[in-house]
Amino acid sequence: MSTPTDTQRMEKIVSLCKRRGFIFQSSEIYGGLNGVWDYGPLGVELKRNLKNYWWRVMVHERDDVVGLDGAILTHAEVLKASGHVEGFSDLMVDCRTCKSRLRVDQLMEKDGQRCPRCGSKDITETRAFNLMLETHIGSINPSSSPTYAVPQTALTAGTAVFEITTTSQTHAVDVRHPAGEQMALVYLRPETAQSIFVQFKNVLEVSRKKLPFGIAQIGKAFRNEINPRNFTFRSREFEQMELEYFCGPEQGMELLEYWKEERLKFYEKIGIPRTKLHVLNVPDAERAFYSKGTYDIEYDFPFGRHELEGVAYRTNYDLKQHQDTSKKPLEYFDEETKQRFIPHVVEPSAGVDRTILALICDAYAEDQVPDEKGKMETRIVLHLHPRMAPIKCGVFPLLKKNPQLVAKAKEIVDLLRPHMFVFYDESGAIGRRYRRQDEIGTPFGITVDFETFGEKNVALRDTVTLRHRDSMKQERVAIEELVNILTSHIR
Ligand code: ATP
Repeated sequence: MSTPTDTQRMEKIVSLCKRRGFIFQSSEIYGGLNGVWDYGPLGVELKRNLKNYWWRVMVHERDDVVGLDGAILTHAEVLKASGHVEGFSDLMVDCRTCKSRLRVDQLMEKDGQRCPRCGSKDITETRAFNLMLETHIGSINPSSSPTYAVPQTALTAGTAVFEITTTSQTHAVDVRHPAGEQMALVYLRPETAQSIFVQFKNVLEVSRKKLPFGIAQIGKAFRNEINPRNFTFRSREFEQMELEYFCGPEQGMELLEYWKEERLKFYEKIGIPRTKLHVLNVPDAERAFYSKGTYDIEYDFPFGRHELEGVAYRTNYDLKQHQDTSKKPLEYFDEETKQRFIPHVVEPSAGVDRTILALICDAYAEDQVPDEKGKMETRIVLHLHPRMAPIKCGVFPLLKKNPQLVAKAKEIVDLLRPHMFVFYDESGAIGRRYRRQDEIGTPFGITVDFETFGEKNVALRDTVTLRHRDSMKQERVAIEELVNILTSHIR
């Protein structure tokens, strides 16, 4: 089901992200790299807060999950066994009129299939396009080395080093790698999950866990998307937060429900309301053939309702494929039943970048508030959950020219820094300083003024003004209470 889109709102969000240093186009000064993004000083903080909280909830606060940090470069055999080399593709067409390259599911259905950009019906035949990105490792780089014909006999597994001569040089070529001709071909992983499956046995042995238990991973994944779009939503380089939760075959469907609910709770805890989330029970025909059940958790972005996370019961497909291909046992021995079997798995797989985008979209607001002279003005504010906010607290001396105020404000910065990321700002009118923090989602502001020294009222000595971003309410708080008050909100 689709929802109305809000292009103007999205444009404002993209502009804020650049203006305030959340997200920049990658390689921008060279014209940009399509579908690739860099996170600026605030974006990286937001991303870290999200990943750290996911890790805390999914790993540290549980007895049954351990972590893994697998490599990005992936052996071609891993992705052959998993089915990605053969089948990880999108169906693609070209529009002969405006030359757009499109995914088939982007075509408009209007008295036949039409190009969504120019409306033309002059569309090419559908063809499959593999989304995996390849690279080469080892000393032979096919693109930069001189071209030469490698004798076929030398490419079979087990052959040793041989020499080839080009016009200028002699190269030693090592073809002892068992993969023969493909020795240098590797993939940038299209999902983090496969390294978890391939390391299943190692992790099981070292962690001595019993089923059900999970292996969690956060890391980069790469897909050569045909049409990257909607800002960071569909990128070619992105990050995933994945859990592979291994279990017995009889527990799969029940755990699918369990993880769907856990993941919905997670989004609420980072500030995305349940009302903006939708659970799509993916129909049989659209699920991966090995999955017995898949839920997509979707969010209402300004450009429509789209997937944030997939929660899938993948049966024992992946482990079985790797066991059959590698010929290495990936079974689990149940001490109680004395049975040996290949575990099944339920996988909640979330996108870091899509969640960041959802957080920013959800938090963005404009309201009307009085300025210092009481005139109404538009305030741009990010209502980020304090847990996610890049900067937790702004600290401001009322006047930058007063050394006593400045020294006290810096003392407060030192007091708070071991507990949270704070920002010291002494420039401009205090109202402007609040607005700058509102726009980047800083939930608290502390102002040191003359009351802090108890000049008019000794009862106010060693207190500061604590301002709340959302309500803009201000309260007087003792400096010694600040750490407790603030940490209770951001934990
Ligand atoms: P879609 O249907 O949107 O292409 P998918 O179903 O292929 O997504 P999965 O393979 O289930 O996605 O990947 C799990 C999660 O990884 C997604 O829910 C999403 O959050 C994230 N993800 C996948 N592809 C991309 C991408 N190109 N850019 C950003 N995040 C992505």
